Amino acid sequence: MGMEYIEGIPLLRPYTDYDNKGFWDAVREHRLVFQRCRECGLIVHRPRPMCPRCLSTEREWAPSEGKGRIYSYVDFVYQNASYPGIKVPYVVVVVEMVEGVRMISNMMDETAEEIYVGMPVEVVFDDIAEDLTLPKFRKIQD
Ligand SMILES: [Zn+2]
Repeated sequence: MGMEYIEGIPLLRPYTDYDNKGFWDAVREHRLVFQRCRECGLIVHRPRPMCPRCLSTEREWAPSEGKGRIYSYVDFVYQNASYPGIKVPYVVVVVEMVEGVRMISNMMDETAEEIYVGMPVEVVFDDIAEDLTLPKFRKIQD
């Protein structure tokens, strides 16, 4: 069972700016990329103007393997407002990617009862609107 969006409520959209535009452009093309420092090679997420390790502003987009493990998750079961336009229950996950960075996202199909810390996952791309794609995750075999 995937996430269900509430009809009539505007979809929450990512705030895009100069630093993260490349990330969201890649997601639109069903590719996952992370910012990589051209000086020291550090993979950084979320995208930012400067490398937190060496302070270089030289960056590039590095393709991700798209795989990781559940680091943490929250099961939303109570709804007292239509915002953010998602029907409960839904799960928000923190995924630790093989590249070492963590992403906040949702599971494509799995319910909270099926999710556990350490669960291996891979990215999937959910075209939730004609002009909006979100990177989500699904369970893979260990
Ligand atoms: Zn660096």
